[in-house]
Amino acid sequence: MRKFPAPIHNAVAALGKLPGVGPKTALRYAFALLRLQRGELELVAKSIDGLKFVTTCDRCFTYAEASICEICRDSKRDSKLLCIVAEARDIATIEATGIYHGLYLVLGGVLNPVDGYTPDKLNVKELQDRLQLDRDIGEVILAFSPDVHGETTILYLSRMLKNLGKKTTRLARGLPMGADIEYADEVTLASALSGRSET
Ligand SMILES: [Zn+2]
Repeated sequence: MRKFPAPIHNAVAALGKLPGVGPKTALRYAFALLRLQRGELELVAKSIDGLKFVTTCDRCFTYAEASICEICRDSKRDSKLLCIVAEARDIATIEATGIYHGLYLVLGGVLNPVDGYTPDKLNVKELQDRLQLDRDIGEVILAFSPDVHGETTILYLSRMLKNLGKKTTRLARGLPMGADIEYADEVTLASALSGRSET
């Protein structure tokens, strides 16, 4: 016999799919949702339902509402600069600094062969294709967190990019070793971006 009505069990099972949410936390969240006003609960449900319309940009692979995202569509962006980031959320972090106006490409992770993140699992081929098609790009910025996997990725990509004859830079070493770009403050990240150096 179930301890709670089926909708609660269903919500617990759904919330349990989120990272770091175990059965107890999922149950706590389900109860918190039950305490919301009907209108608020509908808003939560509607906003989650809306996520199914999110797609990925064909050019930079970030999340988008259309096949080409707003940044890729923006003719005011500097098309000579291409910043490579591990995850789509890193774009938001870099945009928050307000000093970068170039384009992006989301790699989809960092190299980590032990966990199965080999070059063929990331958008490495897509990056090569982009550079071959897009002759405008004069500099490729490798904006990865300065940890073991970030450094491995920088090493791998800078070798590949040099073979393609592209100027390749990395963030200045102002970010503490092991720090995640996601948690870097805007001032530190802005200075790491403007003080970038060739690899
Ligand atoms: Zn895009």
